[in-house]
Amino acid sequence: MNQPADHYDTYRLARRDMIADQIEARGIHDARVLRAIDSVPRERFVPPDARSQAYADQALAIAEDQTISQPFMVAYMTQVLRVEPHGKILEIGTGSGYQAAVLSRLTDRLYSIECIAGLSVAADRRLRGLGVTDVHLRVGDGSMGWLEESPFDRVLVTAAAPDIPGALIDQLSLGGRLVIPVGGAGQQTLVSVVKLRGRTRERVHIPCRFVKLIGESGWG
Ligand code: SAM
Repeated sequence: MNQPADHYDTYRLARRDMIADQIEARGIHDARVLRAIDSVPRERFVPPDARSQAYADQALAIAEDQTISQPFMVAYMTQVLRVEPHGKILEIGTGSGYQAAVLSRLTDRLYSIECIAGLSVAADRRLRGLGVTDVHLRVGDGSMGWLEESPFDRVLVTAAAPDIPGALIDQLSLGGRLVIPVGGAGQQTLVSVVKLRGRTRERVHIPCRFVKLIGESGWG
């Protein structure tokens, strides 16, 4: 029996079920987002002893007390972000690299910051292992954005902030969109902010629960 092929098929079927039962069933219908998720082997982004849970309807622990987000939340945030082909995207909170892998299917200009060096190194290895070589990774405080590479058409924050960091709005292009969980340490709301001429337009989406954004414009 060919063991690797069996595993491949098992994960592929689990991924299809996850998309149907957890993502499409909850109203995510953007075909590009669904295709992107279908193309990323999530089992490669979780610790080896959690692979059987890779397609479960929950966030999972990774190293350094951090998490890989729930699949539905990854899909929801990606849909709300409305990525355009060749748009310049900044992700804050590389974590396992899974969300970056999904975004890399939608744009060829992706930047991602992680404040924990070990996570960034491991994410880099995973992404390269999948042939994703054009994501620009950096270790640092993403709550202050990535000034040298700004402006960005889209900014996605995958950790919870007490308030919307001003630097991230400053570093958006006109018409650009920021998606960020905002609220208290235990519970937040996913918010999107569009930058218009001289003002911003905010929209509140769904309740969510993320680990804390630390740093200068985070929880310190
Ligand atoms: N996007 C990740 C994935 O696909 O696995 C999940 C991100 S996890 C929920 C949040 C991440 O944000 C953690 O890895 C954490 O270390 C990182 N983080 C928290 N504050 C940060 C900051 N100021 N700058 C960069 N990364 C930060």
